[in-house]
Amino acid sequence: MLEVVAVPVLTDNYVWLIHDPSSGETAAVDPSVADPVLDAAAAKGWRLTQVLNTHWHPDHTGGNQGIQSATGSPITGPDEVRRVSKIDRIVAEGDRISVAGSEAVVWEIPAHTAGHIAYYFEDEGMIFVGDTMFAMGCGRLFEGTAQQMYSNLQRIAALPGDVRIYCGHEYTLANARFATHAEPGNQAIAERLAAAQALRANGEITLPTTVAQERETNPFVRATNGEEFARLRTEKDSFRS
Ligand SMILES: [Zn+2]
Repeated sequence: MLEVVAVPVLTDNYVWLIHDPSSGETAAVDPSVADPVLDAAAAKGWRLTQVLNTHWHPDHTGGNQGIQSATGSPITGPDEVRRVSKIDRIVAEGDRISVAGSEAVVWEIPAHTAGHIAYYFEDEGMIFVGDTMFAMGCGRLFEGTAQQMYSNLQRIAALPGDVRIYCGHEYTLANARFATHAEPGNQAIAERLAAAQALRANGEITLPTTVAQERETNPFVRATNGEEFARLRTEKDSFRS
């Protein structure tokens, strides 16, 4: 059983550390920066052995080089990461990679960026989705279409309900406010907004989320087709809560 912890960095990014207690291996997912991630691993007594990137954005790759210099960790990610970083292993749809003694399968989920990928750990029941899905929300469409993003969300939402979803940012409160606006009669959304407010008031993180929670409370997942999704995404882009 892998242990996963969040390292909050920058304004609202999460770097995820995936640790295998038996081998001692630890992977860092989307390190925005190096030093806070190295410090967090050291505080746990963990040795960083691998870096995984979901997409090329600098707030997900900025720590690659520093972590590699300090630890020798190889960097795995989609081809697009070459725009901003050295990369040791380029992966694509269906590739199976070994991570901290477990296996992850790579999904291509383009739309936020053209080469965005996810890492799905089927045996562990968890998926790292970067900036594609957030709790009650989804990523902006910088390099892809609404239909692509809608298909990505449906693919994730088709996983078993108890699969844990690890996202790249703490956007839950803002997303919950938009979700309340999009579905004013949805009691599950109202309850989740209240729960997120309580967690954030205590300085706690609201992730990971689960597939079951997103099916109930994420308006972008609940959209019945690509057109409805596109309308919601456009509305959210200019929404002020
Ligand atoms: Zn991004």
